[in-house]
Amino acid sequence: MVVVMKSGASDQQVQAVIDRIRDCGMEAHVSKGTERTIIGLVGDERQVDFDSIAALAGVEQAMPILRPYKYVSRNVHPETVTIQVGDVSVGKELVFMAGPCSVEDEDTTLRIAEAIRKAGAQVFRGGAYKPRTSPWSFQGLREEGLRILSKVRDETGMPIVTEIMDAADIQIVGEHADVYQVGMRNMRNYTLLNELGNTSKPVLLKRGDSATLEEWLAAADYIFRNGNHGVILCERGIRTFENYTRNTLDLSAIPAARSEACLPVLADPSHGTGRADLVEPMSKAAVAAGADGLMLEVHTEPQRAWSDGRQTVTPEALRNIIDACRRIRDIQA
Ligand code: PEP
Ligand code: MN
Repeated sequence: MVVVMKSGASDQQVQAVIDRIRDCGMEAHVSKGTERTIIGLVGDERQVDFDSIAALAGVEQAMPILRPYKYVSRNVHPETVTIQVGDVSVGKELVFMAGPCSVEDEDTTLRIAEAIRKAGAQVFRGGAYKPRTSPWSFQGLREEGLRILSKVRDETGMPIVTEIMDAADIQIVGEHADVYQVGMRNMRNYTLLNELGNTSKPVLLKRGDSATLEEWLAAADYIFRNGNHGVILCERGIRTFENYTRNTLDLSAIPAARSEACLPVLADPSHGTGRADLVEPMSKAAVAAGADGLMLEVHTEPQRAWSDGRQTVTPEALRNIIDACRRIRDIQA
């Protein structure tokens, strides 16, 4: 952190800043210019309450130098973490996670799972606990949905990724899921992130729809620093002024997150656009931008999906997307 004192700040005010920095266990490096005094804080500033220094008398500006995350940073962890999900090494090979928005009745879900497996997806996605904007919308089959997901794994061999909304559900969801999904609404649920950091299953962490890249990576750091290094990031679109699409898929966040953090980055063009017709072009764009894989909403009859039908593609469309993305990946090699 660099503290810039106001011009005319008194010696006592400068000393009070130095004392506060030392109270926090850090060293202060003072540089007296002709007009202003600048104080550099030497040590890990993340442990210092920023406001307690910025609010001191005579301080004009206090600027953080370090990022709000540490362990997921490539500075600390230069190699990309690879995460084994079933037969796929996420971070090394392209991964396609696909399935309906919500887990539906057993027959329909199994039918979809078989179709997406044949289309080339390696991981099945489906929400049993659904975080819906309106309390009147379908909230998911919950435990019955988890049971159906286990059946999908037994019958198709595909690993399962499903959303967890509450730290109290870690045990029950973990009995059925291979990967915990943290949705955009819960990216800031720090109790949940901390608890998932104490588990050994991979976590797919979606970006909050109003989260900056730094906030998203700081959320990942909650999980990583507790010992769970299996964090997969997922860019799923952010809110902008544009309402032609449901969200604005932030393509630039894909290479940015990959160069900043040691974690694989997926894209979700289904929630990222909200429109089935845009899913294929944005899937290709995401892989061209360096995405390590995609999460896609797929249903054998999108018009009958229990949720998010408008952004859901068919297994046939999924096959085309996978073929096209693999060709794009081959060109990059
Ligand atoms: C989902 O994947 O079904 C979902 C609810 O996504 P998000 O959290 O990105 O809205
Ligand atoms: Mn959905």
